[in-house]
This record gives sequence, structure tokens and C-alpha cells, in this order.
Amino acid sequence: MNKHRTLFRIGLGHWTGLLLWALTATAAMADNPIAIAIHGGAGTIRQSDLSSAQEASIRADLEAAVKAGYAILEAGGSSTDAVLKAITLLEDSPNFNAGKGAVLNQEGNVELDASIMRGQDRNAGAIAGVFGVKNPILLAHKVMTDSEHVLLSGQGAETFARLRGIQFENADYFKTPYRIEQLKQLQASGQARTTPADGYPHAWFSTVGTVALDKRGSLAAGTSTGGTANKRWGRIGDSPIVGAGTYADDRYCAVSATGHGEFFIRAAVAHDICARVAYQQLTIQQAVEQVIKQDMVKMGGDGGVIAMAPNGELTMTFNTAGMYRAAIDTAGQLTVAIYADEQTR
Ligand code: ASP
Repeated sequence: MNKHRTLFRIGLGHWTGLLLWALTATAAMADNPIAIAIHGGAGTIRQSDLSSAQEASIRADLEAAVKAGYAILEAGGSSTDAVLKAITLLEDSPNFNAGKGAVLNQEGNVELDASIMRGQDRNAGAIAGVFGVKNPILLAHKVMTDSEHVLLSGQGAETFARLRGIQFENADYFKTPYRIEQLKQLQASGQARTTPADGYPHAWFSTVGTVALDKRGSLAAGTSTGGTANKRWGRIGDSPIVGAGTYADDRYCAVSATGHGEFFIRAAVAHDICARVAYQQLTIQQAVEQVIKQDMVKMGGDGGVIAMAPNGELTMTFNTAGMYRAAIDTAGQLTVAIYADEQTR
């Protein structure tokens, strides 16, 4: 009897200890700041380029995506899950150059790139030059969690997607009338791509990306794109390149980029920002200003980034006339903006 009582007491002590630990852990978690920022591409976005209906639809999509990601963080979900949620919503919207509505390559096909990185262990997954995958960010995530590789491309990535039960859609799902018309105009004018420098009307990028900080203090970043319009020869931009278009390290920062990918690869933009925070002890804002507003401008690389520090401080900075962007900061404050003269951070 006594023995049973002792065992019962030990058991009770064990469970009380566990309960106390769980309560303390939850309380500590509840105190940690959460924040999220998203972009839907940078470029020469002028108010005159968008009808008020288009603008309203883009703003509504940005707001829905940032709120959906934030809801995951609020519920105690991981920053990786928040990134996946926000990006899949943007991929499903025809308003952005990712998933449905992505730009067309020279053959008139949608060829998709994406990457995701979690700051906790710097694990990452990416895919490039993939056809038919409805949500490329989910495939990039599978590469991270369910393969021994970081970057898969083309047919191999598609085979991997099928093995992992990733959803495919037929070509018509992705191609919007706007992109078909855009390609026609580009090819008629003999231009190889859509960049602001080309002077092509509606010359902006509209790749999508997200950075987030969860209650455990962990950062994540992700980016998804169709690349640049009228691209050829299996061209791959910065978006699926870890360190160029996407980077996350819990100690320093999380970054997702949009812009003229060739320049962002050459300058290793996402990693460079984090390295400046690490080695020069710059704030995230200072590091981003140096890279995007100085270095990239000198090189001629149009674009921008969203970036977040481990304390949730965030910046949405670009060297173009606009960037589709939205954020919910550590104070729970929502921002949705398109043009440069709209006050954000
Ligand atoms: N950075 C992307 C690329 O070069 C384009 C974009 O941002 O829209 O593929």
C-alpha cells in the first residue's frame, strides 16, 4: 500500500513538474514578439499603370495573405508555416508573378522557381525551372523537409513532386490573358525580358515573398516566382537561390528579395544583408539601405527586399518606384502599400 502511495506521489510530482514546465514555456512563448512582412514584387509601379479595380484587388490579396500568415503566428504556429500560408495564397492569386498568373517564358510556358529557409537551423529547400506545380513553395518546403538536397530543378524536381503527392495543374490554369498579351508585346518589340530598364509598360517584377518571426523566436523566409517574362534557355533568377533571393538565420535576419535576378545573384543580396548585420553589427534597416539603395543602385540592379531582425524589427525597402508590400509588425500594426511615396517602414 505504502509502496503504491509513494509511486503515486512520484507520479504526481512528475506530472506537476511537467505541467509547470509547460505553463512556463507557454508563458515565455506568449511574451515573444511575432511579426510578418510580405512582398508581391518591385518595379516601376505607377498609379497610372493600375486601374482602381486592379489596385483594390492587389491590395485585398496582400492584406488577406499577410493576415493569414499572422493568424498562424498568433496561434503559436511556426514562422515556416506562416511563410507557406502567405505565399500559397499569393501563388493562387492571378495578380502576382508566382503560381497562377506567373510570367510566360519564350515558348509561352510558365516555368516556376521557389525557395524557403528556416532560421533555426538554416535548413533550406528550393526548386527551379518546374512546370505544372500549383504551389512551388510547397514543393520547395518538401525538398527542405523530405529530401537530402537543397535545390532540385526541372524534370527531376517534378518527379520528386509526384513522389511526394504535390498538386499539379495543367498549363491553362497558370496562363492569364494579361501574361499572354504581355509576352506578345514583348516578343513583338524584340525585348528579352520585362524590367524597368526596358521601359516596357507595366515593367515590374511581382515575384512574391514572405519573412516571419514566430513565438519561439524563430525566423523564416520564402520566395516564389515565374522569373522574368520571355526568359529563355532555362534561365533561373535569384528567387530559388539561397543567399541571393532568400535567406534566414535566427541570429541575424530573414530576407526575401524581388527584382532583376541576375544582379541579385551577383551581389548575393539576401546573404549580404545578413552578413552586414552579423559582421558589422548594423541594424537590419542600415544593412538593407546599404545593399539595396547603394550597392544595387551602383550595379544597376532594380528591386527591393523585405527583411526582418530576430526582435521582429522589419523593413520593406526598394530602389524602384514601387513594391507591392504588406506587414503586421510586433505591435500588431497592419500596413499595405504599393507606391514609394506611401509611408511604410
Ligand atoms: N527576381 C525575380 C527573378 O529575377 C523576378 C521578380 O522579382 O519578379 O527571377
